[in-house]
Amino acid sequence: MPLMTTKPMFDLAYGGGFAVGAFNVNNMEITQGIVDACVAEKSPMILQISKGARKYANMRYLKHIIDAAVEDHPDLPIAIHLDHGDTLDLAKTCVKDGFTSVMIDGSHLPFEENIKLTAAVVKAGHGAGVVVEAELGMLGGIEEHVVGLSAEEYEKNVEKFLTDPVQAADFWKRTGVDSLAIAIGTSHGAYKFKNEPKLAIGRIEQIMKTCPGLPLVMHGSSSVPREFIDLINKYGGNMPNAMGVPEEQIHTAVSKYGVCKVNIDTDLRLALTAKIREVFATKPAEFDPRNYLGPGREAIVGMVRRKLHVLNCAGKAEAVIKQWKKLGNPLPVFYTKAAHA
Ligand SMILES: [Zn+2]
Repeated sequence: MPLMTTKPMFDLAYGGGFAVGAFNVNNMEITQGIVDACVAEKSPMILQISKGARKYANMRYLKHIIDAAVEDHPDLPIAIHLDHGDTLDLAKTCVKDGFTSVMIDGSHLPFEENIKLTAAVVKAGHGAGVVVEAELGMLGGIEEHVVGLSAEEYEKNVEKFLTDPVQAADFWKRTGVDSLAIAIGTSHGAYKFKNEPKLAIGRIEQIMKTCPGLPLVMHGSSSVPREFIDLINKYGGNMPNAMGVPEEQIHTAVSKYGVCKVNIDTDLRLALTAKIREVFATKPAEFDPRNYLGPGREAIVGMVRRKLHVLNCAGKAEAVIKQWKKLGNPLPVFYTKAAHA
Protein backbone atom coordinates (compact mmCIF):
# COMPACT_ATOMS: atom_id res chain seq x y z
CA MET A 1 0.00 0.00 0.00
CA PRO A 2 1.86 3.10 -1.18
CA LEU A 3 -0.87 5.48 -0.05
CA MET A 4 0.52 7.63 2.75
CA THR A 5 0.44 10.96 4.52
CA THR A 6 2.92 13.60 3.43
CA LYS A 7 5.08 13.00 6.51
CA PRO A 8 7.51 10.48 4.99
CA MET A 9 7.78 12.74 1.93
CA PHE A 10 8.48 15.92 3.91
CA ASP A 11 10.90 14.12 6.27
CA LEU A 12 13.17 13.65 3.26
CA ALA A 13 12.30 16.81 1.35
CA TYR A 14 13.18 19.14 4.24
CA GLY A 15 16.90 19.65 3.92
CA GLY A 16 16.97 17.06 1.14
CA GLY A 17 17.02 19.57 -1.69
CA PHE A 18 13.68 18.68 -3.26
CA ALA A 19 9.96 19.35 -2.98
CA VAL A 20 6.99 17.15 -3.78
CA GLY A 21 4.62 18.40 -6.47
CA ALA A 22 1.00 18.77 -5.40
CA PHE A 23 -1.16 18.60 -8.48
CA ASN A 24 -4.87 19.40 -8.59
CA VAL A 25 -7.12 16.68 -9.99
CA ASN A 26 -10.54 17.33 -11.45
CA ASN A 27 -11.15 14.41 -13.80
CA MET A 28 -9.74 11.14 -15.11
CA GLU A 29 -7.48 12.54 -17.84
CA ILE A 30 -5.78 15.05 -15.55
CA THR A 31 -5.20 12.37 -12.89
CA GLN A 32 -3.79 9.91 -15.42
CA GLY A 33 -1.52 12.56 -16.92
CA ILE A 34 -0.04 13.35 -13.50
CA VAL A 35 0.28 9.71 -12.49
CA ASP A 36 1.86 8.65 -15.81
CA ALA A 37 4.44 11.41 -15.43
CA CYS A 38 5.28 10.31 -11.86
CA VAL A 39 5.56 6.70 -13.02
CA ALA A 40 7.98 7.72 -15.77
CA GLU A 41 10.04 9.80 -13.32
CA LYS A 42 9.75 7.42 -10.32
CA SER A 43 8.46 10.31 -8.28
CA PRO A 44 6.26 10.60 -5.18
CA MET A 45 3.13 12.69 -5.67
CA ILE A 46 0.44 14.58 -3.86
CA LEU A 47 -2.92 14.48 -5.61
CA GLN A 48 -4.95 17.38 -4.33
CA ILE A 49 -8.64 18.02 -4.53
CA SER A 50 -10.25 21.40 -3.99
CA LYS A 51 -13.73 22.10 -2.75
CA GLY A 52 -14.62 23.04 -6.34
CA ALA A 53 -13.29 19.72 -7.66
CA ARG A 54 -15.36 17.81 -5.10
CA LYS A 55 -18.44 19.61 -6.36
CA TYR A 56 -17.61 19.35 -10.06
CA ALA A 57 -16.63 15.70 -10.29
CA ASN A 58 -18.52 14.23 -7.31
CA MET A 59 -16.13 13.06 -4.61
CA ARG A 60 -17.08 9.42 -5.00
CA TYR A 61 -15.94 9.43 -8.64
CA LEU A 62 -12.69 11.27 -7.90
CA LYS A 63 -11.86 8.98 -4.99
CA HIS A 64 -12.32 5.89 -7.14
CA ILE A 65 -10.12 7.35 -9.88
CA ILE A 66 -7.39 7.95 -7.28
CA ASP A 67 -7.92 4.50 -5.77
CA ALA A 68 -7.38 3.07 -9.26
CA ALA A 69 -4.08 4.95 -9.52
CA VAL A 70 -3.00 3.61 -6.12
CA GLU A 71 -3.93 0.04 -7.08
CA ASP A 72 -2.17 0.35 -10.41
CA HIS A 73 1.10 1.63 -8.92
CA PRO A 74 1.97 -0.13 -5.66
CA ASP A 75 5.54 1.19 -5.85
CA LEU A 76 4.67 4.90 -5.97
CA PRO A 77 4.16 7.02 -2.84
CA ILE A 78 0.81 8.85 -3.17
CA ALA A 79 -0.86 11.28 -0.76
CA ILE A 80 -4.45 12.53 -1.13
CA HIS A 81 -4.77 16.11 0.01
CA LEU A 82 -7.60 18.62 0.44
CA ASP A 83 -6.58 21.92 -1.18
CA HIS A 84 -7.87 25.10 0.50
CA GLY A 85 -10.34 23.62 2.94
CA ASP A 86 -12.34 26.45 4.46
CA THR A 87 -14.25 24.86 7.35
CA LEU A 88 -13.73 22.29 10.09
CA ASP A 89 -16.72 20.38 8.70
CA LEU A 90 -15.17 20.05 5.23
CA ALA A 91 -11.88 18.88 6.76
CA LYS A 92 -13.73 16.25 8.81
CA THR A 93 -15.66 15.10 5.73
CA CYS A 94 -12.37 14.65 3.86
CA VAL A 95 -10.94 12.64 6.76
CA LYS A 96 -14.00 10.39 6.48
CA ASP A 97 -13.52 10.15 2.71
CA GLY A 98 -10.03 8.73 3.10
CA PHE A 99 -7.84 11.79 2.49
CA THR A 100 -4.40 11.41 4.05
CA SER A 101 -3.78 15.16 4.35
CA VAL A 102 -5.99 18.24 4.60
CA MET A 103 -5.38 21.95 4.29
CA ILE A 104 -7.29 24.47 6.35
CA ASP A 105 -6.94 27.97 4.95
CA GLY A 106 -7.71 30.54 7.60
CA SER A 107 -5.24 33.05 6.16
CA HIS A 108 -8.00 35.60 5.51
CA LEU A 109 -9.04 35.51 9.19
CA PRO A 110 -7.56 37.59 12.02
CA PHE A 111 -4.47 35.82 13.44
CA GLU A 112 -6.14 34.50 16.61
CA GLU A 113 -9.10 33.12 14.65
CA ASN A 114 -6.79 31.45 12.15
CA ILE A 115 -5.07 29.75 15.11
CA LYS A 116 -8.37 28.65 16.61
CA LEU A 117 -9.68 27.17 13.35
CA THR A 118 -6.37 25.52 12.47
CA ALA A 119 -5.94 24.01 15.95
CA ALA A 120 -9.44 22.50 15.73
CA VAL A 121 -8.63 20.91 12.34
CA VAL A 122 -5.27 19.65 13.63
CA LYS A 123 -7.04 17.98 16.55
CA ALA A 124 -9.57 16.29 14.24
CA GLY A 125 -6.91 15.34 11.67
CA HIS A 126 -4.31 13.98 14.06
CA GLY A 127 -6.99 11.99 15.89
CA ALA A 128 -7.52 10.11 12.64
CA GLY A 129 -3.87 9.88 11.57
CA VAL A 130 -4.26 12.62 8.97
CA VAL A 131 -1.74 15.46 8.61
CA VAL A 132 -2.71 19.13 8.33
CA GLU A 133 -1.42 22.09 6.30
CA ALA A 134 -2.38 25.68 7.20
CA GLU A 135 -1.68 29.09 5.69
CA LEU A 136 -0.34 32.33 7.09
CA GLY A 137 0.15 35.53 5.12
CA MET A 138 -1.61 36.63 1.95
CA LEU A 139 -1.25 35.60 -1.68
CA GLY A 140 -2.36 37.54 -4.72
CA GLY A 141 -4.54 36.29 -7.56
CA ILE A 142 -7.68 34.22 -7.80
CA GLU A 143 -8.15 30.49 -7.33
CA GLU A 144 -11.75 29.27 -7.42
CA HIS A 145 -13.39 30.71 -4.32
CA VAL A 146 -10.06 31.89 -2.95
CA VAL A 147 -9.88 35.52 -3.98
CA GLY A 148 -6.61 37.23 -3.20
CA LEU A 149 -5.42 40.64 -4.23
CA SER A 150 -5.16 42.07 -7.75
CA ALA A 151 -1.72 42.01 -9.39
CA GLU A 152 -1.31 45.80 -9.02
CA GLU A 153 -2.41 45.86 -5.41
CA TYR A 154 -0.23 42.89 -4.56
CA GLU A 155 2.95 44.12 -6.22
CA LYS A 156 2.66 47.56 -4.68
CA ASN A 157 2.31 46.21 -1.13
CA VAL A 158 3.98 42.82 -1.36
CA GLU A 159 6.17 43.31 1.75
CA LYS A 160 3.10 43.89 3.88
CA PHE A 161 1.49 40.58 2.86
CA LEU A 162 4.45 38.26 3.29
CA THR A 163 4.33 35.72 6.12
CA ASP A 164 5.71 37.18 9.34
CA PRO A 165 8.46 34.86 10.70
CA VAL A 166 7.73 35.61 14.38
CA GLN A 167 4.00 35.06 13.91
CA ALA A 168 4.77 31.83 12.05
CA ALA A 169 6.64 30.43 15.05
CA ASP A 170 3.81 31.36 17.42
CA PHE A 171 1.28 29.87 14.97
CA TRP A 172 3.19 26.59 14.69
CA LYS A 173 3.61 26.24 18.44
CA ARG A 174 -0.03 26.91 19.21
CA THR A 175 -1.61 24.83 16.42
CA GLY A 176 0.79 21.89 16.09
CA VAL A 177 0.27 22.08 12.34
CA ASP A 178 2.37 19.71 10.16
CA SER A 179 3.21 22.11 7.35
CA LEU A 180 2.66 25.77 6.54
CA ALA A 181 1.77 27.53 3.29
CA ILE A 182 3.66 30.81 3.30
CA ALA A 183 3.29 34.03 1.36
CA ILE A 184 6.64 34.80 -0.27
CA GLY A 185 5.49 36.72 -3.32
CA THR A 186 3.65 34.00 -5.26
CA SER A 187 0.13 34.40 -6.55
CA HIS A 188 -2.75 32.19 -7.70
CA GLY A 189 -3.96 31.90 -11.30
CA ALA A 190 -2.57 32.67 -14.77
CA TYR A 191 -2.41 36.45 -14.37
CA LYS A 192 -0.20 36.52 -11.35
CA PHE A 193 1.93 39.54 -12.05
CA LYS A 194 2.28 42.71 -14.06
CA ASN A 195 6.07 42.57 -13.85
CA GLU A 196 8.56 39.73 -13.70
CA PRO A 197 8.12 38.42 -10.15
CA LYS A 198 10.85 37.88 -7.62
CA LEU A 199 10.31 35.43 -4.81
CA ALA A 200 11.18 36.69 -1.34
CA ILE A 201 13.85 34.07 -0.71
CA GLY A 202 15.16 36.06 2.27
CA ARG A 203 11.77 35.65 3.91
CA ILE A 204 11.94 31.87 3.52
CA GLU A 205 15.31 31.92 5.27
CA GLN A 206 13.91 33.97 8.15
CA ILE A 207 10.94 31.61 8.58
CA MET A 208 13.32 28.64 8.61
CA LYS A 209 15.20 30.31 11.44
CA THR A 210 12.12 30.94 13.60
CA CYS A 211 10.50 27.61 12.64
CA PRO A 212 13.35 25.12 12.22
CA GLY A 213 12.15 21.84 10.74
CA LEU A 214 8.66 23.05 9.75
CA PRO A 215 7.92 21.93 6.15
CA LEU A 216 6.97 24.96 4.05
CA VAL A 217 4.51 25.00 1.16
CA MET A 218 4.39 27.23 -1.89
CA HIS A 219 0.99 28.00 -3.39
CA GLY A 220 0.41 30.01 -6.54
CA SER A 221 3.53 28.51 -8.05
CA SER A 222 2.54 27.65 -11.58
CA SER A 223 5.05 29.04 -14.05
CA VAL A 224 2.50 29.68 -16.83
CA PRO A 225 4.80 28.33 -19.59
CA ARG A 226 5.03 30.58 -22.62
CA GLU A 227 4.62 27.66 -25.03
CA PHE A 228 1.09 26.91 -23.77
CA ILE A 229 0.03 30.56 -23.72
CA ASP A 230 1.32 30.92 -27.30
CA LEU A 231 -0.59 27.81 -28.44
CA ILE A 232 -3.77 29.03 -26.76
CA ASN A 233 -3.49 32.46 -28.34
CA LYS A 234 -2.51 31.01 -31.74
CA TYR A 235 -5.58 28.79 -31.87
CA GLY A 236 -8.29 31.27 -31.01
CA GLY A 237 -7.68 31.81 -27.30
CA ASN A 238 -7.30 35.16 -25.65
CA MET A 239 -4.84 35.16 -22.77
CA PRO A 240 -2.63 38.22 -23.19
CA ASN A 241 -0.20 39.13 -20.44
CA ALA A 242 -0.44 35.83 -18.59
CA MET A 243 2.63 35.44 -16.38
CA GLY A 244 3.78 33.00 -13.68
CA VAL A 245 6.69 32.33 -11.35
CA PRO A 246 9.89 31.57 -13.34
CA GLU A 247 10.95 27.94 -12.93
CA GLU A 248 14.51 28.91 -11.92
CA GLN A 249 13.17 30.72 -8.86
CA ILE A 250 11.04 27.73 -7.86
CA HIS A 251 14.07 25.50 -8.34
CA THR A 252 16.12 27.69 -6.00
CA ALA A 253 13.38 27.71 -3.33
CA VAL A 254 13.11 23.91 -3.30
CA SER A 255 16.75 22.95 -3.72
CA LYS A 256 18.29 25.26 -1.12
CA TYR A 257 15.46 25.98 1.32
CA GLY A 258 12.79 24.22 3.39
CA VAL A 259 10.06 24.30 0.76
CA CYS A 260 8.73 20.72 0.72
CA LYS A 261 5.54 21.03 -1.33
CA VAL A 262 4.80 23.08 -4.42
CA ASN A 263 1.22 23.43 -5.68
CA ILE A 264 0.58 23.23 -9.41
CA ASP A 265 -2.90 23.75 -10.84
CA THR A 266 -2.89 26.50 -13.46
CA ASP A 267 -0.15 24.83 -15.54
CA LEU A 268 -2.25 21.64 -15.78
CA ARG A 269 -5.21 23.65 -17.04
CA LEU A 270 -3.05 25.48 -19.56
CA ALA A 271 -1.47 22.29 -20.97
CA LEU A 272 -4.86 20.62 -21.39
CA THR A 273 -6.54 23.69 -22.88
CA ALA A 274 -3.69 24.46 -25.28
CA LYS A 275 -3.74 20.94 -26.71
CA ILE A 276 -7.52 20.78 -27.05
CA ARG A 277 -7.54 24.15 -28.81
CA GLU A 278 -4.85 22.95 -31.20
CA VAL A 279 -6.85 19.83 -32.11
CA PHE A 280 -10.05 21.81 -32.59
CA ALA A 281 -8.31 24.37 -34.81
CA THR A 282 -6.24 21.97 -36.91
CA LYS A 283 -8.82 19.16 -37.17
CA PRO A 284 -12.17 20.91 -37.29
CA ALA A 285 -14.01 17.70 -38.25
CA GLU A 286 -12.84 15.92 -35.08
CA PHE A 287 -15.62 15.10 -32.65
CA ASP A 288 -14.38 12.06 -30.74
CA PRO A 289 -13.53 13.26 -27.20
CA ARG A 290 -10.78 10.65 -26.99
CA ASN A 291 -8.99 12.39 -29.84
CA TYR A 292 -8.72 15.72 -28.06
CA LEU A 293 -8.73 14.67 -24.40
CA GLY A 294 -6.06 12.05 -25.22
CA PRO A 295 -3.57 14.57 -26.64
CA GLY A 296 -4.49 16.88 -23.74
CA ARG A 297 -3.53 14.13 -21.31
CA GLU A 298 -0.22 13.65 -23.15
CA ALA A 299 0.51 17.37 -22.85
CA ILE A 300 -0.02 17.08 -19.08
CA VAL A 301 2.43 14.16 -18.91
CA GLY A 302 5.13 16.24 -20.60
CA MET A 303 4.51 19.30 -18.46
CA VAL A 304 4.49 17.35 -15.17
CA ARG A 305 7.66 15.44 -16.08
CA ARG A 306 9.48 18.71 -16.64
CA LYS A 307 8.09 20.06 -13.38
CA LEU A 308 9.33 17.03 -11.42
CA HIS A 309 12.85 17.92 -12.54
CA VAL A 310 12.37 21.57 -11.56
CA LEU A 311 11.37 20.27 -8.10
CA ASN A 312 14.26 17.75 -7.97
CA CYS A 313 11.57 15.18 -7.16
CA ALA A 314 12.27 12.76 -10.00
CA GLY A 315 13.72 9.45 -8.76
CA LYS A 316 12.70 9.99 -5.12
CA ALA A 317 9.91 7.36 -4.91
CA GLU A 318 12.03 4.57 -3.52
CA ALA A 319 13.64 6.67 -0.79
CA VAL A 320 10.22 7.94 0.33
CA ILE A 321 8.84 4.40 0.58
CA LYS A 322 11.89 3.43 2.66
CA GLN A 323 11.23 6.35 5.00
CA TRP A 324 7.55 5.37 5.21
CA LYS A 325 8.52 1.84 6.25
CA LYS A 326 11.02 3.22 8.75
CA LEU A 327 8.18 5.17 10.37
CA GLY A 328 6.15 1.96 10.61
CA ASN A 329 3.95 2.34 7.50
CA PRO A 330 1.70 5.00 9.05
CA LEU A 331 -1.73 5.27 7.42
CA PRO A 332 -4.85 7.17 8.45
CA VAL A 333 -7.33 5.32 10.65
CA PHE A 334 -9.71 5.19 7.66
CA TYR A 335 -7.48 2.60 5.97
CA THR A 336 -6.46 0.58 8.98
CA LYS A 337 -10.13 0.24 9.94
CA ALA A 338 -11.01 -0.82 6.41
CA ALA A 339 -8.18 -3.37 6.49
CA HIS A 340 -9.59 -4.96 9.64
CA ALA A 341 -13.20 -4.92 8.46
ZN1 LIG B 1 -3.50 27.76 -3.12
